Amino acid sequence: MDFKEYIRVIPDFPEPGIRFKDITTLLKDGDVYREAIESIQKMVEDKEIDLIAGPEARGFVIGAPLALMMGKGFVPIRKSGKLPGNTVEADYGKEYGKDKLAIHRDSIQPGQKVLIADDLLATGGTIAATIEMIEQLGGVVVGAAFLIELGYLDGREKLKGVDVHSLVTY
Ligand code: 5GP
Repeated sequence: MDFKEYIRVIPDFPEPGIRFKDITTLLKDGDVYREAIESIQKMVEDKEIDLIAGPEARGFVIGAPLALMMGKGFVPIRKSGKLPGNTVEADYGKEYGKDKLAIHRDSIQPGQKVLIADDLLATGGTIAATIEMIEQLGGVVVGAAFLIELGYLDGREKLKGVDVHSLVTY
């Protein structure tokens, strides 16, 4: 399936010059959404995985169904101040803007193998911060899976040493 047909590109969002890849047009088609998640699963099914972690908000839309399909637990990574329990945090800069992410301290046990899932890899800032927090908790990042990779932003370079998989590349 050509998933690009279902991804809408919106120019100048959220800032002038950015061509935003809108996945809501893919998500609203149940068959295409399921096939996208199944295709991501196929890319990572040979991996030994204990948990899947995804950053809000679109990382939930990819990571949670993937976790359900693979019979794994899901660990939400949220913007600072949103998680109720004890957290560790990491700063990150992204394609547009800066922010701080957080993860519950007790969400990952030392040695657990974690697959990261998100909708889109741009500069890699979000995932670099995510890896930093997972490793701080003693987790082992076994890979990162994305619906979309913006190849021209070289996010992979920032994630050297991580096994990166993406369904479609721009
Ligand atoms: P990065 O940290 O790799 O620069 O940016 C990736 C993060 O920003 C992802 O969590 C993703 O949801 C969001 N993001 C950045 N650009 C886009 C885009 O064009 N489309 C979508 N859907 N998300 C984007």
